[in-house]
Amino acid sequence: MTSANPRHPDFPIPGGPKLRAKGWRQEGLLRLLENVLAVGEDPSNLVVYAALGRAARNWPAHKAIVQALTTMEEDQTLVIQSGKPVGLLRTHAKAPLVIMANCNIVGQWAKAEIFYELERKGLICWGGLTAGAWQYIGSQGVIQGTYEIFMRIAERRFGGTLAGRFILTAGLGGMGGSQPLAGRMAGAAILTIDIDPERARKRKEIGYLEVIAPDLDTALTMIEAAKSERRALSVGLVGNAADIYPEIARRGIVPDVVTDQTAAHDLVFGYVPRTRSLDEARAMRKTAPEQLMEESRASIVDHVRAMLTFQSRGAEVFDNGNLIRTHAREGGLANAFDIPIFTEAYLRPLFARAIGPFRWMALSGDPKDIAAIDDLVLRLFGDNQIVSNWIKLARQYVPFEGLPARIAWLGHGERSELALGVNELVADGTLKGPVAFSRDHLDAAGMAHPNIMTENMRDGSDAIADWPLLDAMALCSSQADLVAVHSGGGGYAGYMTSAGVTLIADGTAAAAERLAMSLDNDTGLGVIRYADAGYGEAIDEVSLKHIPHIQL
Ligand code: NAD
Repeated sequence: MTSANPRHPDFPIPGGPKLRAKGWRQEGLLRLLENVLAVGEDPSNLVVYAALGRAARNWPAHKAIVQALTTMEEDQTLVIQSGKPVGLLRTHAKAPLVIMANCNIVGQWAKAEIFYELERKGLICWGGLTAGAWQYIGSQGVIQGTYEIFMRIAERRFGGTLAGRFILTAGLGGMGGSQPLAGRMAGAAILTIDIDPERARKRKEIGYLEVIAPDLDTALTMIEAAKSERRALSVGLVGNAADIYPEIARRGIVPDVVTDQTAAHDLVFGYVPRTRSLDEARAMRKTAPEQLMEESRASIVDHVRAMLTFQSRGAEVFDNGNLIRTHAREGGLANAFDIPIFTEAYLRPLFARAIGPFRWMALSGDPKDIAAIDDLVLRLFGDNQIVSNWIKLARQYVPFEGLPARIAWLGHGERSELALGVNELVADGTLKGPVAFSRDHLDAAGMAHPNIMTENMRDGSDAIADWPLLDAMALCSSQADLVAVHSGGGGYAGYMTSAGVTLIADGTAAAAERLAMSLDNDTGLGVIRYADAGYGEAIDEVSLKHIPHIQL
């Protein structure tokens, strides 16, 4: 049984009790593949988010993946290479059902030009972090992270609230679309610019954005009114951020918080330079990609220069993980890195304790299953301020897209405790169906990204990709259902390596074993990674939670 998907009618939302595969583990992964397309940005081209982040390499590959998931036995492992299934190995019932590697290119060859060439030849595809591994849940996937950043800023600079404060940002795409809602949840008046009117319309339609202003003057008047009344408000504006940021600076207006989440990582298929209309840029993607790259880089320089101006006038400015500083520096803006990265500036103490973006999806398709899990989270972690505050807010504000899902930043021991509790609710019939657990690849053990996750690590280990590779191997050894290793990032090559994991809680004892072992080893390794780098929070967590860290 599927339900209608008004956004993409050809991609219905999966759900219901009927199995098409030979077990819930296979069926669960199949539903997650269907779900990333149902909530994706451009599913007819298999694009889920982050400009080119795809769920499968091409349609024949997609068809073969669906066929394999539908027919495979529990003692087989499907092997996927950059979105294309290449083998169905005989393994055993405790082995992962799916292992995948997306967009990994050997060091010296890991360059944008080589990625684009391999992509054109149909040999590789960019899986984003969660697109290729079928873990994307729509804009909700990063919303708590963005909200927590805003709240850390509120605590440090504005007496604990962003009421009466102005946030300026850009990007209303798959991930960036979470910003207006996160800003409103934090109490702010938030203005988000996007060059594509269709994206703005979409975010308004699904309830992430309240109003779209017809022009900059109207937008600023709305923001000013909301600020003075200390009223939370999200305003969208169609335009190029590389024009609008400098114009706001020219008028002498200083927002309280400034960031950006345009698809600046991709100078061809993501960012639109101020010198081109959206249609012109789209046409040039095929006809003149090098020219487009050059113009995008030049625009990013203007865009980031305006961000630096706001910073020099007292605004809190940060990079929200889209490599905009990296491209600005390559374009000649030497001080682009005066802008801090969000991970180091606000979230590292959480990551050091392996507290990160954990999420779960109700495979039944029934929102009541998520409501019951919300209740369980509040019962188990009611005294955890961050978690209980978030669940209450999310219930009130966050609309579901696709399969009902929830994200919550949980740490070592908490993730497995929740998952085992949910597995029992599946077993005793409280929930209508099994539940899938996953996380963003941007997690303690899961990622090496020297310009985002691991910038300025205390021991200088920023660029060492051993950690996510070890994580993936540990997860395979711990009976996870799906394990993925991705590389890519900006320009899709050479910027990061990450590991992802998915588990299906189907109410069985075998699932309980898989959940406990995989989730604890994943977060345990995360804590070990930060303890190894010398973070005090991680060293404390090792002794407090008896994590098996070997200290030399
Ligand atoms: P997306 O491709 O879905 O959307 C990008 C948006 O940027 C589009 O709506 C596009 O119209 C807009 N845009 C491009 N150039 C513009 C310009 N000059 N002015 C105004 N708007 C412009 O991408 P997404 O999934 O929303 O991701 C956005 C960025 O965030 C990516 O670089 C991605 O890698 C990064 N990201 C960061 C995190 C994190 O944890 N902080 C998580 C996921 C993604």
